[in-house]
Amino acid sequence: MAKQPMLKFVKISRDMPEKRDAEARNTDFDEIYAGFAEAKAAEQASRCSQCGVPYCQSHCPLHNNIPDWLNLTATGRLEEAYQLSQSTNTFPEICGRICPQDRLCEGNCVIEQSGHGTVTIGAVEKYITDTAWEKGWVTPAAPAVERRESIGIIGAGPGGLAAADVLRRAGVQVTVYDRYDRGGGLLTYGIPGFKLEKDVVMRRIKQLEDGGVRFVFNCNVGETLSFEDIRDQHDGVIIATGVYKSRDLRGPGAGAKGIVKAIDYLTASNRASNFGDTVPEFESGELNAKGKKVVVIGGGDTAMDCVRTAIRQGATSVKCLYRRDRANMPGSQRETQNAEEEGVIFEWLTAPKGFKGDTVEAVIVEKMRLGLPDATGRQSPEVIEGSDYEEPADLVIKALGFEPEELPSLWGTPELEVTRWGTIKAEFTSGRTSLPGVYAVGDIVRGASLVVWAIRDGRDCAEHVLSDLDKQAVIAAE
Ligand SMILES: Cc1cc2nc3c(=O)[nH]c(=O)nc-3n(C[C@H](O)[C@H](O)[C@H](O)COP(=O)(O)OP(=O)(O)OC[C@H]3O[C@@H](n4cnc5c(N)ncnc54)[C@H](O)[C@@H]3O)c2cc1C
Ligand code: SF4
Repeated sequence: MAKQPMLKFVKISRDMPEKRDAEARNTDFDEIYAGFAEAKAAEQASRCSQCGVPYCQSHCPLHNNIPDWLNLTATGRLEEAYQLSQSTNTFPEICGRICPQDRLCEGNCVIEQSGHGTVTIGAVEKYITDTAWEKGWVTPAAPAVERRESIGIIGAGPGGLAAADVLRRAGVQVTVYDRYDRGGGLLTYGIPGFKLEKDVVMRRIKQLEDGGVRFVFNCNVGETLSFEDIRDQHDGVIIATGVYKSRDLRGPGAGAKGIVKAIDYLTASNRASNFGDTVPEFESGELNAKGKKVVVIGGGDTAMDCVRTAIRQGATSVKCLYRRDRANMPGSQRETQNAEEEGVIFEWLTAPKGFKGDTVEAVIVEKMRLGLPDATGRQSPEVIEGSDYEEPADLVIKALGFEPEELPSLWGTPELEVTRWGTIKAEFTSGRTSLPGVYAVGDIVRGASLVVWAIRDGRDCAEHVLSDLDKQAVIAAE
């Protein structure tokens, strides 16, 4: 009888790829995890219990066929593993690096529930597609038939790019417009290199270009070109513009110099440290933590990226203020642990009350406690009166989350319906909006979310665009 290659979780323990020591990784912006070697990937994949109802798959937003590609990896059939993995995910190596697996696939792994430690799904997914790139299995779109219809996509983040890939493979003419000078959206200018190295994103942009997707960069729709211009030029438009309006701080001194927005700070760092761009605000120190006492306000993934960036830039101290406790923070526990290892100090249950100095010198901090649960069941933070103290700071980074820009007024399209939160109202899965031939995907529909959800939206929407184009072609032929 053939040897059973799977179910090894009883004998083999969970193992992640090697993580660089904090001391070594604090000095650069390279990823902190190495890749698996072939034997290790096969070994870790073989821990999968191949359960009949794979909860990992149902909790992956893309419903990746995880048990099957783990089995193929364990048995050395890597090219098939890659084909299967990429059939449901446009950018598996990116998700493998940055999905919060503890909340998605791995958090629902059955062997994790039975106390054996989850299968390292993300690391294996990354390994499969990194190997596919090395071996030349990843190829640009080569549609069998060219279609004459064209689709304009506004936004070159993961949502727009995933839609572009599906449409182009079906032969549609695709143009992607972006106000940045490079594609990738937050993959390029939000998420730091130590989580996702930039060549991993840039090779995907090139792959799309090689497959015939046209990119128009430095094109701010609403300024450089009007939304109506884009609608006139294409048979359909997909809006994938993400959410970029930073939530602000209130309180005395909140407008002081030295209090900056997380997105500006991270973009400057990504440009200067990963692409070697000249960024005047980085050179001048305005958006650079070198030699400074840094305080970051917020407890989400953006805050984690800011604190860890500040450490790498050579801050003298980095503190993170969050108004709830560790158990109730929105950011990934894995990233919080990484930040702590790197020297970040978390001040749980604290919030800024005000700031001292015309150029910030200190944050006036008030201590909080968790009170009764609110309507959502989450305990509300309450101020502990008289608990104020001063936290010295010469750079304060606001990482309090993002909201959508007001697209209908910015673009002069009041007919484009939005929700009361300002996100675009779009039909579930198809992404159809209130305007005929206009679709929307990703964060601009969901609010600030995850890369994997943007990919899911982009893929789903593109399938509906294709079926709408087919229907229109039939009507035109009648
Ligand atoms: C700092 C940070 C860290 C994050 N870390 C993670 C993580 O670790 N894991 C994870 O899964 N998710 C993470 N996220 C969330 C994730 O990045 C987003 O959910 C995802 O990128 C959304 O994709 P999108 O395509 O909808 O939008 P975006 O990635 O925001 O892309 C939108 C694109 O539209 C362009 N655009 C906007 N307006 C216009 C206009 N008027 N004209 C032309 N172009 C325009 C922008 O320039 C941008 O390129 C993070 C977010 C941030 C801010
Ligand atoms: S895409 Fe994300 S959630 Fe799905 S299997 Fe990969 S790492 Fe897990």
